[in-house]
Amino acid sequence: MLLLLSTSIFLVSCKSNTKPVEKETYMMGTVVQLKIYGTNAEKATELALKRISDIESKMSVNIETSEITKLNAKAGISGQKLSRDTYSVIEKSVQYSKLSGEALDATIEPIVKLWGIGTDKERVPSKDEIQEKLKLVDYKDILLDKKNSTVQLRRTGQAIDLGAIAKGYTADELKKVLIDNKISSALINLGGNVFAVGSKTDGTSWNIGIQNPLDTRGQYIGTISVTDKSVVTSGNYERYFIANGKRYHHIFDPKTGYPSEAGLISTTIVSDKSIDGDALSTSTYILGLSKGLKLIESIKGVDAIFITKDKKVYVTAGLKDSFNLTNKEFIYEKR
Ligand code: ADP
Ligand code: MG
Repeated sequence: MLLLLSTSIFLVSCKSNTKPVEKETYMMGTVVQLKIYGTNAEKATELALKRISDIESKMSVNIETSEITKLNAKAGISGQKLSRDTYSVIEKSVQYSKLSGEALDATIEPIVKLWGIGTDKERVPSKDEIQEKLKLVDYKDILLDKKNSTVQLRRTGQAIDLGAIAKGYTADELKKVLIDNKISSALINLGGNVFAVGSKTDGTSWNIGIQNPLDTRGQYIGTISVTDKSVVTSGNYERYFIANGKRYHHIFDPKTGYPSEAGLISTTIVSDKSIDGDALSTSTYILGLSKGLKLIESIKGVDAIFITKDKKVYVTAGLKDSFNLTNKEFIYEKR
């Protein structure tokens, strides 16, 4: 994954304020797109890419030297000292496990590995295998020692996967890098995890397309107009395989060990912080429509767009003026 760092596909630079620096590359297991405006854009882009690679090298389960790989290897034995980045993401994940009624659970890793979705080992495991691995999934076994910035997993075989939340954290950190470099207008897209920084250079809002979960990438059901917001989507189209005519996707219900089938096929969260959006888009996908709406409506400053498998689009009150449904195959259900 890291090798791909150097294979940037696209780079345009310009000194003027209106032409952005655009960069598209593959990192964190996904397509990363940056569009950065302003006189410091070139330098800010370079620093942003360094920051992504820094976070990935600490948190990826696919990198042997990462802090997460080391922590997982010591499960049931001892704790692993962590950087502030990794510690804070694990801590946040535990908070969201509680808040989401245990829908989000970073100890899902043994289940993720068993299914192998997106790898050359993907398959439908037997019920027995799933039951066996499910015993290892329990966020309450994440033992946090804040004073020493150390985390231990209680039992041998347990492991953490931060895939549901790390991109959100990264987007927030990239925004900080941009602000530090006096950038006031930028779009960050980490595989559907979008941060619209500031406004467009003419002062108007950004228009972010909401992917049609039933169509090819780049086909939208509508748009949302935002200024300085994170817009994160979880969907069953992101990573999946088909076996015996059934689609198996990568968001697992920690209660069953199977891909979550709660009636939603896409959840978008609009928030000020992308780590919240990332945690909540995955959580609400698992919770389903009514519990998901209840959760979002209980959190101030957070809004959502949920799409059900029968093509209904539920939009929370805070977005009623900014969401525009353009695909007439979908039915708009205002809250
Ligand atoms: P994406 O990676 O497509 O943006 P999400 O943010 O919804 O999607 O995260 C999905 C990833 O999170 C999976 O690939 C897996 O690594 C991990 N994951 C799957 N189910 C859970 C869960 N219930 N709790 C925590 N992490 C999960
Ligand atoms: Mg997520």
